[in-house]
Amino acid sequence: MWTKSQLCQQQCGVVPELEKCTVHIREPERVKEIIAALRAGGPSKLQVITDFDKTLTCFANKGKRSPTCHNIIHDSKLISDECKTKLKNLLNIYYPIEIDPTRSIEEKLPLMIEWWTKVHELLVEQKIQKSKLAETVMESEAQLRDGYRIFFDRLHKYNVPVFIFSAGVGDILEEIIRQVGVYHQNVTVVSNFMDFDENGVLKGFKGEMIHIYNKREGALRNTEHFQQLAECCNVILLGDSLGDLSMADGVQKQENILKIGFLNDKIEQLLDEYLASYDIVLVSDETLDVANGILQYVLESGQLSNCCRNN
Ligand code: C5P
Ligand code: MG
Repeated sequence: MWTKSQLCQQQCGVVPELEKCTVHIREPERVKEIIAALRAGGPSKLQVITDFDKTLTCFANKGKRSPTCHNIIHDSKLISDECKTKLKNLLNIYYPIEIDPTRSIEEKLPLMIEWWTKVHELLVEQKIQKSKLAETVMESEAQLRDGYRIFFDRLHKYNVPVFIFSAGVGDILEEIIRQVGVYHQNVTVVSNFMDFDENGVLKGFKGEMIHIYNKREGALRNTEHFQQLAECCNVILLGDSLGDLSMADGVQKQENILKIGFLNDKIEQLLDEYLASYDIVLVSDETLDVANGILQYVLESGQLSNCCRNN
């Protein structure tokens, strides 16, 4: 049942969540046009391509940083104290580089490869057991952004394909969304998946390593997935890093794309660059409200006009 004000807002084509003070848009008219085109295309033409850490999960909660997939392992009982110190030292060296507004992506790229490689080598040394991962996630402070259930359930309801593309750890990511019951059949996860030996002990990572600046290559390796979605020429992309912008590069015959970026850190220094790259920039917004508002408008307004016509 729609309230009168909801009806008015929907019919005027307004997504009320875009009025939030966290929302920054360089070209509002263009955003309106893209959203209108997504709505005109409807559910059957839409797909969502999203990053995971600090995009679907929180960046911080009450001033405390929320854990990434890697952090969940680093901080767990699976890791010795000595190794925890090494991992923390690496984080203190490389995370500031990841978000350094003064360095180019070209400059950061080899350093990110170095970070991921060193961390994955350390994790393998810890002889992590596959059977402990579910418990590790259960005991962690993993936190999806507010509104995650509406987000996943609505996309499932309308059978919109969701491609989660993460440089985190796939096994942890899957466990997080499975444990809260949103790993629906329309969701595909591409990430760094652990490789276990016959005793269920970590021996490495499968396939090509994904770090935050090689998502374009990763996207192009998944052309088969995108070929199956040839009808889904409209894309909503969600990310938090500038490296996430290339996640949709594998999409065939892209018609309309709306890029929504979470700007979590180094806000003042990075805002202009984010505004130039993402259509909508969400500054210190720990919710999925804006994505949910847009999805409601894009997916459900068709139903609304039908219901109005019937009344
Ligand atoms: O899912 P997403 O692609 O965002 O995952 C990558 C994130 O994981 C990066 O933002 C990076 O800061 C974080 N990371 C981490 N610890 C590592 C490696 C990456 O927290 N050892
Ligand atoms: Mg991220």
